[in-house]
Amino acid sequence: MDSYIEQVYNGVVEKDPGQEVFHQAVLEVLESLEPAIKKYPVYKENSILERIVEPERIIQFRIPWKDRDGKIQVNRGFRVQYNSALGPYKGGLRFHPTVTQGVLKFLGFEQIFKNSLTTLPMGGGKGGSDFDPKGKTDAEVESFCESLMFELYRHIGQFVDVPAGDIGVGGREIGYLYGAYRKITNHHGTCVLTGKGAGWGGSLIRPEATGYGCVYFVQEMLKTRGEDMKGKTVVVSGSGNVAQYATEKCIQLGAKVIALSDSSGWIHDPDGIDAEKLAYIMDLKNVRRGRIKEYADHYKVDYSSQGSPWSLKCDVALPSATQNEVDAKEAKALVDNGVMAVGEGANMPTVPAGVEIFLENKILYGPGKAANAGGVSVSGLEMAQNSQRFFWTREEVDAKLHQIMQSIHANAYHTSELFGAKGNYVMGANIAGFLKVANAMVDQGHRI
Ligand code: NDP
Repeated sequence: MDSYIEQVYNGVVEKDPGQEVFHQAVLEVLESLEPAIKKYPVYKENSILERIVEPERIIQFRIPWKDRDGKIQVNRGFRVQYNSALGPYKGGLRFHPTVTQGVLKFLGFEQIFKNSLTTLPMGGGKGGSDFDPKGKTDAEVESFCESLMFELYRHIGQFVDVPAGDIGVGGREIGYLYGAYRKITNHHGTCVLTGKGAGWGGSLIRPEATGYGCVYFVQEMLKTRGEDMKGKTVVVSGSGNVAQYATEKCIQLGAKVIALSDSSGWIHDPDGIDAEKLAYIMDLKNVRRGRIKEYADHYKVDYSSQGSPWSLKCDVALPSATQNEVDAKEAKALVDNGVMAVGEGANMPTVPAGVEIFLENKILYGPGKAANAGGVSVSGLEMAQNSQRFFWTREEVDAKLHQIMQSIHANAYHTSELFGAKGNYVMGANIAGFLKVANAMVDQGHRI
């Protein structure tokens, strides 16, 4: 590794020694920026790397709320406002017991480059809480969301920071958060949150956007080898928002999705998940809030709480659950079983050694910050529609999403070619995302 880059990375580790997943994200980006840092000395001269790894601001706060027995529970809330060189901070809120400042710094850091790739004017941020929505009543989730907003409202706004959903934060939670925001501030805030309901300011296609966008990205990668999605066997992990709509788009394009999972286990349906089975999953996960095992019981297919679906033979893999869910052994198994393309619906789902295996074996590998950028892209389009107080049709938003995913692919592909690693989307996406932010930071002076 270049000594300047190594020095920046070591500084990150020394400052926050316990934040391993954040270190992992920083290392992955810094390593791939090496050719750009060498080619353009202006970034080193302006200490861009030292500045870009440091969040502009982190807000941490207490969230007390009442459970169903009237007992006061306390969770921890965060908002990491990472980089606003390109626009207001933009990024989701995650509710999951594993949420820590380090996890949100990793996600916020990734978000800077992802948002830059979308072509829309958005900075990078991320937030959330160690609150676990699993097993909670609607009233408990509402009480929690209200309490979170009592603090968060003062830090957000259409020109400041616009949060959205992520793991554990879907339409229900955005509704409660938005209701609380309005009650506290007495105004709609034009666009203070994205992922709103379609009847009260949300964009059509926002729920679908990350999953659809991921499949559009994979389509573009496949095109570079004269292939398409039709007839491909696909393995998807997770069964939440991203996994559901990635599955829907695969079905629409004539591919066969044979697996889905949740944090308890995974199902294998060799006949493929069709539209009717997907409707069952959406009801199970979004309405009844049940476990994926019930699908296996209902449709009489295999279920396992051991191992992972990455042991299955498939042409396309779409990891869409969480970070570090594909280890090196699993990446090797996918390669040995003939996988052609991997599109990351989740953020950083593949461990670094797994990424190496995909790259060495010339697998079409679309890293999360490019492949899952469809969600934040349509969030950006939701902001645009809110600003003009006028809404686009489903077809219009979907066409814009498709065009953005094609442009992200083209940008990452051509950038990889320009820097001598044609088809390496890790390098292409990182450098392309970085250059736009870094140039903005240089232009805006040294205090940015
Ligand atoms: P959801 O909460 O809707 O679904 C998450 C899914 O992943 C669930 O099936 C969940 O299972 C599973 N999961 C979560 N944590 C773990 C874990 N530690 N181990 C195994 N399985 C787990 O979230 P989303 O679909 O929105 O998000 C999925 C991924 O996509 C995340 O990495 C997120 O950051 C990323 N992403 C999401 C975007 C969006 O628009 N929603 C945009 C870009 C990226 P269970 O129900 O058992 O918890």
